[in-house]
Amino acid sequence: MTTHIYPSYFEAFHNGGLDAASRKAQAMLGSCAICPRRCKVNRLKGNLGFCKTAADPLVYSFMAHHGEEPPISGSKGSGTIFFSHCNMGCVYCQNYEFSQMGGGGLVNPKGLAEIMLELQGGGVHNINLVTPTHVMPAILEALKIAIPAGLKLPLVYNSGGYELAEIIGLLKGIIDIYLVDMRYGDETGGAKYSLAPDYPRHNQEAVIEMQRQVGVAQLDDAGIMRRGLVIRHLVLPHGLSGTEKIMRFIKEKISPETYISLMSQYMPYYKAREFPEISRRLTQEEYSEAQEIMLTYGLHNGWIQDSYGLERFAGVNLKPFLKHG
Ligand code: SF4
Repeated sequence: MTTHIYPSYFEAFHNGGLDAASRKAQAMLGSCAICPRRCKVNRLKGNLGFCKTAADPLVYSFMAHHGEEPPISGSKGSGTIFFSHCNMGCVYCQNYEFSQMGGGGLVNPKGLAEIMLELQGGGVHNINLVTPTHVMPAILEALKIAIPAGLKLPLVYNSGGYELAEIIGLLKGIIDIYLVDMRYGDETGGAKYSLAPDYPRHNQEAVIEMQRQVGVAQLDDAGIMRRGLVIRHLVLPHGLSGTEKIMRFIKEKISPETYISLMSQYMPYYKAREFPEISRRLTQEEYSEAQEIMLTYGLHNGWIQDSYGLERFAGVNLKPFLKHG
């Protein structure tokens, strides 16, 4: 049962918290250190860092998405906005056409606010910001326009998890749902497959901050998520995602009640075939082993996929394996 009947950002909007966070985020664009890469480029002048994005985001597409985890998509869909480019460089990215190659349309904060309101008008359950890290300042600016214009849906911060905890701290009282990847349990995987050797440390610090802000996921009476943390873990072949280390971390540092989406849909997209060890799909045995690890650590809330690697988007085959509470 949810204890929040409206999105947290209403309070942040009225007490000035949203404006303060937005101003800080905008100022950071002048020497960008919004993510762990700390490129220090002036994005306000159009200079580009690793994420190849200046001040305004590129939006690749937006839609009512019915393939996310059940309490996110619900019956009406999740109002999903896919941003182009990314602060990670995953060699196997399933969204590489826009996360790595770019494309889409340049959208200013007013345009982004209009997209949010259009999605809301379609009756979706939430606004789902996919790969939001590098465009977070523009999202905050857009909210300042969208909220007085009638936005009232909770925000889903749908992140690859390569985040700075202090930047996530700026989102306190603004984001209600964190849907975040924990991709690697050790530095080797992060370095080799995502160009991010410091991924585990930053990822773990950020997830701790997310949990501090929103806690264990809360569903309303209709089973729709209103607030909380969901951790996605994409299982890679040969145990290369470090499932054991991640599950132990979740149990010991987050909560054994954490909702986990254990994903079996790995496919060797993009450049993955250049790496023989990840140039194939996951086997059923590898996925079963990951499930066993999760259950061994007493992690019992969330979803597994009932067959492996069949669908493009996360969650298409997700099924609850134990109901919350
Ligand atoms: S958000 Fe982009 S420019 Fe800023 S530090 Fe990260 S990768 Fe670099």
